[in-house]
Amino acid sequence: MAPDERQRALLVEQQERIRARVAELEAEMDALTRARRGEFDDDEHDPEGATLSSQWSMLAGLLESARDDERHAAGAVERLEAGEYGICVACQRPIPPAQLEARPLRERCVACSA
Ligand SMILES: [Zn+2]
Repeated sequence: MAPDERQRALLVEQQERIRARVAELEAEMDALTRARRGEFDDDEHDPEGATLSSQWSMLAGLLESARDDERHAAGAVERLEAGEYGICVACQRPIPPAQLEARPLRERCVACSA
């Protein structure tokens, strides 16, 4: 496999994993939204309400960052196709391979991320 193809396979795999995570979180949000609705219908002062709503904000945060990752993954695949993958978007220098290996979706080198 050419290095590019290997890189691409790696990115696509990562993208699939992120998509699955987004779908999973969305399903959890859905279930929780239904649970909350039921709870409001029954009793607004249900002591479980606070737990549900803190659980909901936690999930919302996770979902937001998973969707962010999803965008980054799509961007990385696009950059790979454009031959720009692994180039720091800030300083335009190649990102050291060790940094890319640790975080394949990074758009900036460590120096520019700081
Ligand atoms: Zn940089």
